[in-house]
Amino acid sequence: MKLAADVETILTHLGTQISGDMASYSPVDGSNIGSVPTASASDIDAACANATAAFHSWRAVPAPRRGELVRLFGNALREDKEKLARLVTIECGKPLSEGMGEVQEMIDICDFAVGLSRQLHGLTIASERPGHRMMEQWHPLGPVLVISAFNFPVAVWAWNAALALVCGNSVIWKPSEKTPLTAVAVQAIFERAVTAFGDAPAHVSQVVHGGRDVGAALVADPRIALISATGSTQMGRKVGQVAAARFAKTILELGGNNAAIISDKADLALALRGVLFSAFGTSGQRCTSLRRVFVHDAIYDNFVEALKAASTSMAVGDPLDGGNLAGPLIDEAAYDGMRIALDEARALGANITGGARMDMKGAYVRPALVEMPTHNGPALRETFAPILYIFRYHDLAHAITLQNSVGAGLSSSIFSTDVRECERFLSAEGSDCGIANVNIGTSGAEIGGAFGGEKETGGGRESGSDAWKAYMRRVTNTINYSNELPLAQGVTFDL
Ligand code: NAD
Repeated sequence: MKLAADVETILTHLGTQISGDMASYSPVDGSNIGSVPTASASDIDAACANATAAFHSWRAVPAPRRGELVRLFGNALREDKEKLARLVTIECGKPLSEGMGEVQEMIDICDFAVGLSRQLHGLTIASERPGHRMMEQWHPLGPVLVISAFNFPVAVWAWNAALALVCGNSVIWKPSEKTPLTAVAVQAIFERAVTAFGDAPAHVSQVVHGGRDVGAALVADPRIALISATGSTQMGRKVGQVAAARFAKTILELGGNNAAIISDKADLALALRGVLFSAFGTSGQRCTSLRRVFVHDAIYDNFVEALKAASTSMAVGDPLDGGNLAGPLIDEAAYDGMRIALDEARALGANITGGARMDMKGAYVRPALVEMPTHNGPALRETFAPILYIFRYHDLAHAITLQNSVGAGLSSSIFSTDVRECERFLSAEGSDCGIANVNIGTSGAEIGGAFGGEKETGGGRESGSDAWKAYMRRVTNTINYSNELPLAQGVTFDL
């Protein structure tokens, strides 16, 4: 009751009220905190038609002016940062400081996108023909569908939407059915920026609520030019196939099975903190959460003892209480997944420390350290929970081979003060992931770099660097300013 009232106060402050058939439950205590309406087939059709109309006028607005809308949105987020962060914590269960961090990430990508709106550069290219020149232009693409997961209920949308909007596209957001109210709040904040902007087309960014059926209907709609889908590999496999069948573009940001290597030459105090935050922060519910750690033989006993001591005393509990470093799992199904993985590991002879369910309302668990006899079983897949599988290694090349021997290819780290080891890990023969870090953990990326992973993580990149190019279409232009018509490659065609 208390959380539902809290949510209502936040949404009222943001000037929005909503209810419908799809309930949202807070993982903090399992209570119902509100509801939204599931989109019908005609709602989905209208959203796609509206997005197409919005795109047709938005693409003609100069890019720096489009950046102004994103600048205003960033400022609106700054004004309501605490409120939105609290709602994120209530609806997805991450600690308040991480809720604040998530909204900060939205603000950061807005700043990045505003600068980008004056830098959507193409190349000029030397032509082989006299009196000719070549160039590339980047044009807006079309309506962009953003499908997001529960664990970053607002930041992932912002990574996509801020870039999509400055690139001249309209946006449809299908948020996770587990966190619809944060999307309602963000849309209200966005609408405030639209009002301040003045002449943005109606429906330049819309929210469509529903579960996987609604997501699937949007993915299949031929009016959607780009699908940026964040979630499980299972989801991405379906979305990817449907999109490929109609040649739609995709950015797939899927599951991870991330690993760190702790060398005998590591700064162990730093490695300990890096491993603990990556493995057990956000209750192991980040795509970049650390799942596997390879510890060098020479330091294994000391390091694992230190891990056990620190994880046993780690404060887990109500995420609204600033003293806790981790909150609950999202729901009972997540707890079942954790229990099954630990049972499988136990059956393989693993030595497990922690992992017990806590006596609280909601799916609160102690972090689990799992010393595995061999690299197999549940360690080969992603379980979205605070489980860290521990392995001994002696030879760095072998540790890298094992690290790379799983389906996912998102994030990885090495902790070492030896430059040769670090460079080898970063080289073409090293980590096969989209993210490879040195002396920091696998999670907690900054928006300035391109974010994403290889193999079953889907291959997409979003956020910083040149990820914006995925939201535009490239046109190659060849211009003849001579009086002749020479053909390329010296081909003759004399009439
Ligand atoms: P999920 O796959 O259950 O759901 C994600 C979203 O996909 C939801 O909005 C859901 O409604 C939608 N969806 C599911 N099936 C669909 C279909 N067939 N067609 C269209 N839409 C569909 O994932 P989740 O449990 O919300 O999130 C956890 C997963 O997300 C983990 O695997 C995690 O690693 C991954 N994740 C990846 C990244 C990344 O950037 N790589 C970031 C966050 C989360």
